[in-house]
Parts: sequence; structure tokens; C-alpha cells
Amino acid sequence: VQAVFRSNLSHLLELMGSGKESLIFMKKRTKRLTAQWALAAQRLAQKLGGVRRDQKQILVHIGFLTEESGDVFSPRVLKGGPLGEMVQWADILAALYVLGHGLRITVSLKELQSNLGVPPGRGSCPLTVPLPFDLVYTDYHGLQQMKQHMGLSFKKYRCRIRVIDTFGTEPAYNHEEYATLHGYRTNWGYWNLNPKQFMTMFPHTPDNSFMGFVSEELNETEKQLIKGGKASNMAVVYGKEASIWKGKEKFLSILNKYMEIHGTVYYESQRPPEVPAFVKNHGLLPQPEFQQLLRKAKLFIGFGFPYEGPAPLEAIANGCVFLQSRFSPPHSSLNHEFFRGKPTSREVFSQHPYAENFIGKPHVWTVDYNNSEEFEAAIKAIMRTQVDPYLPYEYTCEGMLERIHAYIQHQDFCTAPGPAPPGARAPQSPFILAPNATHLEWARNASLAAGAWPPAHSLRAWLAAAGRACTDACLDHGLICEPSFFPFLNSQDAFRKLQVPCDSTESGMNHLYPAFGQPGQECFLQKEPLLFSCAGSSTKYRRLCPCRDFRKGQVALCRACL
Ligand code: UDP
Repeated sequence: VQAVFRSNLSHLLELMGSGKESLIFMKKRTKRLTAQWALAAQRLAQKLGGVRRDQKQILVHIGFLTEESGDVFSPRVLKGGPLGEMVQWADILAALYVLGHGLRITVSLKELQSNLGVPPGRGSCPLTVPLPFDLVYTDYHGLQQMKQHMGLSFKKYRCRIRVIDTFGTEPAYNHEEYATLHGYRTNWGYWNLNPKQFMTMFPHTPDNSFMGFVSEELNETEKQLIKGGKASNMAVVYGKEASIWKGKEKFLSILNKYMEIHGTVYYESQRPPEVPAFVKNHGLLPQPEFQQLLRKAKLFIGFGFPYEGPAPLEAIANGCVFLQSRFSPPHSSLNHEFFRGKPTSREVFSQHPYAENFIGKPHVWTVDYNNSEEFEAAIKAIMRTQVDPYLPYEYTCEGMLERIHAYIQHQDFCTAPGPAPPGARAPQSPFILAPNATHLEWARNASLAAGAWPPAHSLRAWLAAAGRACTDACLDHGLICEPSFFPFLNSQDAFRKLQVPCDSTESGMNHLYPAFGQPGQECFLQKEPLLFSCAGSSTKYRRLCPCRDFRKGQVALCRACL
């Protein structure tokens, strides 16, 4: 069956059910964004032309909303609890629905069991029951529940699962045996999934798939209106919880010299003591009113927490400048409570690395808050700067539809990479050497990887400097690391063509392989495909890195990926 774009979301709203505060929040959002989704669907349909899209049967099981996992969020929705997750789930549902797929949504264990065909009350089902879904989107809580209740089917069908995982799961933490042996065991990892089955909120590491969410888009008239209506001395502080204001008196009083400060901190009856009296606190606002506040404000300012939420993108989309603190040393699971136990080694150099690295000036200013002069100078400079509202394409409805469409059409973790299709010839000389011999290109006619996605001809390989991760090495060249290309580089032949002088070659399990040993001349190949990892570095190795190009504003997709 062909999937047909949908522009009427009322049936989706019914599918979402009712009752919980979190569902109410999500449904309001979906309703408000209906027109944007419909327009985006129209544009994407035009862009894709008549391309055939198969309709998939999809189960969305939102584990963190189930009573069985404690549903810690719903009661906090009205108090400013993590709304980011709900924003993302609402948008995932909308995107899947608008793309025209068959959708089931479950937010309790009972509903999950009945949709999986597991007899209720049986607890774990030992038999393999055929799974009536092509794809299942869930989170870590839901994954655990499925493992408990699907019996043998879980193993058989886990390749159909996609895990919505805000901060991401790196390969070293995902591989059970490796994580256990090398100290990468956490509360979350070790599911032995293909790392691309984990889908993140921001493009953290290309080892995972970037799912994202959307921010409301303005038309030209609205943009002009907003630019005319800005109060140049109005600042809104990022964060709905009072705790983020603790110890920030110094910055607040500097800021207060220049600007009127607004907050949206949840409170019950009295002003939270952490929020100084000169701040105009609105309390937690409904989302549309929060947007209105951002439309008037000049500055949206972060004090270090929360990390990487949707709000800064919304602020920038509404024409604010986002000012945030640089973290030096960077925050990570080694030194910060928030990241402790999360299955990632990522180092976070500012409150919102995406804003810093993918958007930057004039919209985003990242400064050292320990230096009051630098902080004050930034505020003064920002007041003088004119900025236009800006939203990266990947965070528009069209961008999100385009990305999810591509994933659904092309990502397949169930079929093992087989031998080359009949008629395909092994390439004579797959690599083209660049003059400096550290860069090699996959020849355009490489047939070895016929049918691969992303298409193999977008591979550009680099030998990274010692101590450099592939994530960074690729970015240094304006490219992005593409883990699905690792198999093409994991051979003696690849090293030879790169003119890497291997004295000997050894293969082993290490998430940094393939790599060239330092010092010494030993080359190392990867033995375990699940451990291919863009993330990770050590001064002991120069890593062999598979990079690819990407679409402007859509880092998840290569230029030839659609
Ligand atoms: N938000 C809101 N009311 C407010 C402040 C924020 O509805 O007073 C919304 C905002 O529009 C954003 C969402 O809360 O989409 C999540 O914001 P944040 O970036 O703070 O992420 P979180 O920490 O909640 O995941």
C-alpha cells in the first residue's frame, strides 16, 4: 500500500487518547501546529515528486508515560517538568501521521500487551507471536517493558524497534560484553541494538540517528511584525525551575543594569526565593503565551541548565539572541551529576552545543560567565545587534518530515548486509587518493556497496590525528562522520590505499578501530561491527574515519540521500 500525505490531524488527536496532563499538553501542541504540518506535507510532496512511499504499520509506545514505569512526568507537566520530551513525542506522532502511516499509540502496559498480541495477565509470553507492526517507536522504559513481555519475539523483532533517546547512546555503551569488560556499563546501555536505532533530540553523535522535533515557523509578515515590535531592553531567562537561579545573583544584577528581566519559573503561591525581586516572573506559561513573550524579547539568556532543550531554538526562531555560558572544562558523565550514568562520553562545551555549533553568531553568543567583563560586554553588544528570526531547516515541519521519510524508506536493521547483488563487480580501484594521501574517496562507480544507504559514493575517508574522534575529524573537513561506511574502511586494503605504513595488522574488539597505532606502525581492524563508532578517541591511535557530505540545514541526510 502506498502512503498518502495527510493534512487533517483530527483522527490523530483521537488516537492520542486523553486523561493525562502530558497527553493534554501534547494534543494542544499538535492542534496548534496543524496548519504548519499541512503546509509542510504539501511542500515535501512536491519536492519528492511521485516517489513511491510504502505505508508502514507503526506502533508508538511511550514508555515514560506508563504507570508501570512510574509516569513521573505527567504530574510535573503543570509545574514545568521536562516538557522537551513531550514536545518531541508530539512532533514524532504528528510526523508519522502526516507521512501517511498506520499508527497505534500506547501509554500503558495493558494497551501494549494487547497490541503485541500478548494475552493479558500472562506476564511474559514465551512464544514467538508474529508482530503486526513494521516499526515500533519507544523509549528506554518501553524497551524494557517489551523485553519483559514479548518473550522470544523480542529478539526476533528488535531490529524493528526505534528508541527515542534524548542524549544518545554511544556504541561502546551499547555493546553488552564490551561495556562490561571496559567500564562502559551504565543504567541504560547494553542492548546490542544497531546504534542507529537510537534516535536523539539533537544531532549529538552520528552514531545514532537524529530525530529532533519542530519549532514554529514564521512567515515573512510575522517576521517583519516581530522585528518592529521588539523591546530592545527585554530579557527572558531560560529555565522553568527555580533551582537554576541559585548563585546567579551577580550575573542577574549586571544584566539588570541594562535590561528588564523576565522569568517563567513555576511557583505555587509565593515568589520563589531564588528569583530576585527585580525580576518579572510570569510563572510557567502555556506554550503559546511563552512564544508571545519571546516575540517581544531581545535576549534569551541561559545560566547553564537545562541542557539542550527546545526553548533556545524557539527563542531564536522568534528573533531573540541566545546568550549562554561556555563550559570550561566541559561537562560530561565524568564530572557532572546530570550526565552521570548516561551512555555517552560526550563532552559538552556549552549549555546548548547545537545552538553554538550549528547556529552561532549573530543569533547565539557563547561566553565565559566567570569573566564578568566579557559577560557585560556581550550584553552591551547584543543590545546593539539586529537579528532576524532564524530556524534551521532540520527543525521545521518540512525538515522533520523529510528526515523521517528518509529513515522509514531507507533504514533497515533487519536484513543482514548480504553479498553484492548479482551483476555487481568488485571494484578494481575503489579509492581515489588525494595528493596528501590522507584523504581517500570512494569511486563513484563503486559497486561493492550497491543499494547501500547512504549511497557509498558519498564516502570521504580521513585518517584522523592522534587523539581525535571521528566525529570531530570529519567536522574539521566540513563533513559528518557516517558509521555505516566503516565496513568499507575496515580492511588491510583500505589501509594500503591510504598509504598507511602498517608493519603488521591485527584485529580486535575496540570502539576506536579501525585505527593506526601510535607510536609504532601497527594497524588495527574492527572485529565487532556493533562497535564501529564515530565517537571516541585516544592519543594511542590515529583513527580511520568514514565521512560524508550533508545537506545544508539537514545534517542527517547526505546530498544524494533522498
Ligand atoms: N515552555 C512552556 N512554558 C514556559 C516555558 C517553556 O510551555 O513557561 C515550553 C517551551 O515552549 C519548550 C518546552 O517548554 O517547547 C521545553 O522547554 P525547555 O527547553 O526548557 O526543555 P525541558 O527542560 O523542559 O525539556
